Amino acid sequence: MASNVERIMSLAKSDVRLQTIVNNYFLRIGHPQHFVGGLSFKENKDDSPAFCLGFQTFSIPIGFIFVSEGLLGVLTQEELEFVVLHEIGHITKNHVVGSSFVWLMKSWIIDMIADMFEVSKQKAKQYLELLKAFYVLISQKKTPEEEAKARYELEADNFAYVLQGRKDPAISTLLKLSQGNIRAPTHVTFDGSFPFPIVTYEERIEAIRRDC
Ligand SMILES: [Zn+2]
Repeated sequence: MASNVERIMSLAKSDVRLQTIVNNYFLRIGHPQHFVGGLSFKENKDDSPAFCLGFQTFSIPIGFIFVSEGLLGVLTQEELEFVVLHEIGHITKNHVVGSSFVWLMKSWIIDMIADMFEVSKQKAKQYLELLKAFYVLISQKKTPEEEAKARYELEADNFAYVLQGRKDPAISTLLKLSQGNIRAPTHVTFDGSFPFPIVTYEERIEAIRRDC
């Protein structure tokens, strides 16, 4: 994943369509000062079609929004707006800070396991993966890590469609992205060999429909 991001960052180009949506949004909320760039990139098969890097500090949002050329080609203007607003939601709600906190907690737990069982960090990481897998198997629930990440996705969706004032661009975007498989996860945590689903297209669409 990290190497994907590096490759995409080196290839990504500033995109007028994306940048216009970003600028219009910040103008509209009366907060024209921002450092958020809209970039497009030529995707490889396993790349995430849209994501962002950024945060907000002293009310100034800073970051980049990346959208793949493939996705740019299939979305209508309103659907693209939904995608960009979703990413702006992640940036302005500082989800990256929350995710770093989750990451920090995780490395702290790994250190603790390594200490307790006097094993290497690598081994401790594998124990944590197994622990997570057992937890999911037995409880049939998401672990706190996937739970937290799912909440961020639902929050970003909510942020976007509330601003748009309608739900259909959000739902049609998610349906397009699902390519007919709405039970598939939109985001996954990869822990070693185990993929842990964070949230599915269906769960996100349901959450949007439920909310009034
Ligand atoms: Zn998201």
